[in-house]
Amino acid sequence: MSDCLFCRIVAGEIPSNKVYENDKVFAFRDINPQAPVHVLIVPKRHKDNILACDADTAAALTDAVRVIAAQEGVEKSGFRVVSNCGKDGAQSVNHLHLHLMGGKTLPGRMA
Ligand code: 5GP
Ligand code: ZN
Repeated sequence: MSDCLFCRIVAGEIPSNKVYENDKVFAFRDINPQAPVHVLIVPKRHKDNILACDADTAAALTDAVRVIAAQEGVEKSGFRVVSNCGKDGAQSVNHLHLHLMGGKTLPGRMA
């Protein structure tokens, strides 16, 4: 998807602050961080959102969460993982991504 922002970031066509990469996922710092640690974790292969996430991709994403949480030093203090989906979810980039946020006590809870 050459017109997809995150596909272009994965391809290195748009620069990003890379945090982690393996053959299935790519992770980089959010350009507008909402917490001291705010990492976006995306599958390298384009999927629109979490509704298109197969089991293999889900496993790759959660494995990356574990590695990045440890790498970023939030494993023990805790953190939040969010995936916005569609209009009411306020998804602004239509390439499946997890927000991993932490490094401070996060405000409120929605659920
Ligand atoms: P969404 O709103 O779709 O859940 O999240 C998209 C996220 O991508 C936002 O938090 C936004 O700050 C981030 N973002 C948008 N454009 C860029 C970019 O060019 N580079 C990086 N690193 N993050 C971006
Ligand atoms: Zn994409």
